[in-house]
Amino acid sequence: MTASTTLGPREIAARLRQAGQMLRLRGENAFRAGAYEMGAEIVEGAAEVLPALIAEDRLTELRGIGPSLAAVIADLARTGRSATLEKIMGDLPPGLLEVARLPGMTLRRIQALHDNLGIASAADLEGALAAGAVETVRGFGPATVAKLREALARPPGEGAGPPERRVLVDVLETADRLVAKLRRARGVDLVEVVGSVRCAVETAGDLNLLCASESPELPLRTLVEDGAVATVEALGPRACRVRLTDGLRVTLAVESPQRFAVALLSSTGSAAHVARLAARAAARGLALETLEGPTEAALYARLGLPFIPPELREDAGEIEAADAGDDFTDLVTERDVRGMVHCHTVHSDGRHTVAQMAAAAAALKMEYLTITDHSPTASYAGGLTEERLRDQWPEIAAAREQSGIAILRGTESDILSDGRLDFPDDVLGALDVVIASVHQRYKLDRAGMTERIVRAMQHPCFKIWGHALGRLLLRREPIDCDMDRILDTVAASRAAIEVNGSPWRLDLPPEWIRPARRRGIKFVISVDAHSTSELGYLRFGVAMARRGGLRRSDVLNTLPAADFAAAVRP
Ligand SMILES: [Zn+2]
Ligand SMILES: [Zn+2]
Repeated sequence: MTASTTLGPREIAARLRQAGQMLRLRGENAFRAGAYEMGAEIVEGAAEVLPALIAEDRLTELRGIGPSLAAVIADLARTGRSATLEKIMGDLPPGLLEVARLPGMTLRRIQALHDNLGIASAADLEGALAAGAVETVRGFGPATVAKLREALARPPGEGAGPPERRVLVDVLETADRLVAKLRRARGVDLVEVVGSVRCAVETAGDLNLLCASESPELPLRTLVEDGAVATVEALGPRACRVRLTDGLRVTLAVESPQRFAVALLSSTGSAAHVARLAARAAARGLALETLEGPTEAALYARLGLPFIPPELREDAGEIEAADAGDDFTDLVTERDVRGMVHCHTVHSDGRHTVAQMAAAAAALKMEYLTITDHSPTASYAGGLTEERLRDQWPEIAAAREQSGIAILRGTESDILSDGRLDFPDDVLGALDVVIASVHQRYKLDRAGMTERIVRAMQHPCFKIWGHALGRLLLRREPIDCDMDRILDTVAASRAAIEVNGSPWRLDLPPEWIRPARRRGIKFVISVDAHSTSELGYLRFGVAMARRGGLRRSDVLNTLPAADFAAAVRP
């Protein structure tokens, strides 16, 4: 009767988390680290019954607590200590774990801080940074030190803070990997990406995954124990939230196979789209959450709608279009695209030759590509002078022979600040295709920028307006201009607009594709490829085109080679 509980559930959970973190830091065993972090979540979730379970030796009845973890928890509860945990923590003070959360902190670096400067906490590190001492430790270069300063300057609390937004391409890489891994996992029937990533929204703060399983703990374990997981932020019986080492936050929800389709439907698309579906269900005496059906298409059918592709689920007119008879089956797809538009080569700032780009496009079953290197004003990008442009043509002819696919001779001509293009008309007229883009003087005022583009679009040669708004996602704002006036001009001119697939551009954005399409403007989906691998950007261009509601017939590079060449001839 002498045993007294010296640690409560919250303190026990904190110790288990520290142990998990230390194991990850040591790079020893992600499985074991995940078990400790999951243990922390379970202890917190079972806080009320924990003392009774410990007293009766029944901890292993909690799902996820094995015998060794049960022994650690019982030791901590009874004595406040655990030999197993002390072995894991070694000689590093637990306060140093706050430091481990900071960017670039490896165990070797933390040990170096501890050994050389006696640092034992984030506060100690702040002091050492202020005194300029950290720079004296081996392995701490100026970039590392700058990152530490910046991270420590952020408000305390949430560890790494709210997740940073990142471009779609960065999230999709992780999404593809985790989806493949979960699909292979035992006890998992179906896995899908949901949330904004499934709708191809340009940037994302989190990655949300949904899977169907009769044994939720199996997929949850698969994610929690993944080698890229830095911390488990929340874990429940059917869902978990983790933070990866690169800072991305990932959630996984597990549904029964019967409820998978409705969960997929309600966790995809904007809140406004889902609310419209709920209202429609209610009008039919149904509840969206309890709808049953094997697929999303079956559920849409119960609401009197055709299947609406995820990219369109924004409540931006898609439901009205469906009610008016649209079934979206002609929405453009990657398979529809027959030619790679907007390719750079070693002649300007690309990394591969004309022949290499052509061979890569041919390998992707393309019928044609356009070579559109930069023009003279883009000297920073190796822009071609008229002479160098003409020098490229024999090489293009040779590559055409060799690859067997059509290659259009073109340019990506700068739109100068007064709206002129930077090749004389006779040169432009001798080309097969002209892309006209703004590459400098982005900060022209609204009136000046509008005039500049209107004038460029009115130029009598047929041209494609390249990366129209000049935005770089998360880095540079779109240009300021009167878009309605410009779109009216484009509609009345010999011009089309590009949907640029470069993952940092994704330009023209979907919200402007829609009004442009309503004006009857034609588009090309382009890759803006600076290497053979960047031909893969087609995926993103197509995703934006679909979000903007473009149909096969709106997109010029779904045409066969001869028709495309005729459509874009300057
Ligand atoms: Zn460009
Ligand atoms: Zn370009």
